[in-house]
Amino acid sequence: MTLLTTPTTTTTKKAAPRKRTGDLPAVLGGDPVFGERLPLVRPALGDTSALERRYADILGSGMLTNGPTVRELEETVAARLGVAHVVAVASCTSGLMLVLQAIGATRHVVLPSLTFSASAHAVMWAGGTPAFAEVSEDSLTLDPTDAERVVSELGDDVSAMTATHVYGTPCRTQALQQVADRAGIPLVYDAAHGLGSMRAGTPVGNFGVAEVFSLSPTKVVVAGEGGLIATHDADLARQLRLGRDYGNPGDYDTRFAGLNARMSELHAATALHSLSLLDQALVRRREMVRLFWAELGEVAGVRGPILDEGDVSTYKDLTVVVDEATAGVSAAEVGRALAAEGVDSRHYYDPPIHRQQAYRHLPARSLPLTDRLAGSVVSPALWSHMDDDQVRGIARAFRRILHHAPAVHEQEIA
Ligand SMILES: *Cc1c(COP(=O)(O)O)cnc(C)c1O
Repeated sequence: MTLLTTPTTTTTKKAAPRKRTGDLPAVLGGDPVFGERLPLVRPALGDTSALERRYADILGSGMLTNGPTVRELEETVAARLGVAHVVAVASCTSGLMLVLQAIGATRHVVLPSLTFSASAHAVMWAGGTPAFAEVSEDSLTLDPTDAERVVSELGDDVSAMTATHVYGTPCRTQALQQVADRAGIPLVYDAAHGLGSMRAGTPVGNFGVAEVFSLSPTKVVVAGEGGLIATHDADLARQLRLGRDYGNPGDYDTRFAGLNARMSELHAATALHSLSLLDQALVRRREMVRLFWAELGEVAGVRGPILDEGDVSTYKDLTVVVDEATAGVSAAEVGRALAAEGVDSRHYYDPPIHRQQAYRHLPARSLPLTDRLAGSVVSPALWSHMDDDQVRGIARAFRRILHHAPAVHEQEIA
């Protein structure tokens, strides 16, 4: 395993330690690093003049939804990923709902709690019941061993397993597939963050029975709103195409209770434009994450998610895991101190799903690792067209906060 996002490159010591008072965090009275607030995300669409012409063509064509632009998007993504079928939908959430409905996930579905709420909501909408398992401490993705434990506990009362390539880190797909195969259940991926991620040389999109990407505005490829389902299963793809259109094959004799989960032509055009910028965005995000950790230097108690050797992340987020015991400051305190520096951040995913009000009705499950990790994550602003100085500024904000951890912590609890 390699620590792709940890500060392993900074082996040289700084000549002289920075004077503590010289770089005081804004929460302790220093000048904020950023005079103008850095928003969490800013979708990068570059030059949109060609896209605007395409919108005009679509508006003039009289076909506003589920037409040739949607088809072009599906074919472009299928070719890029090497997947047999791509079905465009209105959102990742509706895509997950349709997949889980199609595979009949009406009993328990095993999934991580350290993911976005929609992963579990889709299970509920499909008539299933979420059963949460732990994530691996290093990668923060679904832990195959704990998933197998939960699957075994459920016996026959389990329909499927869903795993999230969280923050763009690919899941341990082979181990998860083995768990699913041993239990005889389908494995579905919430690939909301994973368009552009690679697992052992294979693009995310090729794993499990289906993978569902999101094109909502906080993701790397955006359509405004939208989702893409990738699958190698022709029957499933057919079912999903029916499902996104009310379950109506065209004769208005609906075969099952589907949804309106169609993608509009305007959204498809936006996604195609955004997709054309993906390769450059992936290179840039990787560079920015490296630069951040190099600039941060040697600071105890912080790290990024750990990728397996050869894996590629989209770095949907610049995820920082703060071990409070070592760092002397909590992720929540870091987040508030970052705000004072003019850096927006989020705690993805705190509270984890099993702690959210929507899921309090489920039997309590002990997920100590998830609880601890959820309280340890902070993701600062990161967008694909940020410049190096902005990335250095974010690193400087973290550095001054972490160098003054005891005082920042004292200030917070005072
Ligand atoms: C954004 C997100 C979703 C929901 O995607 P939508 O396209 O907004 O429905 C689902 N899962 C994860 C992990 C997400 O981050």
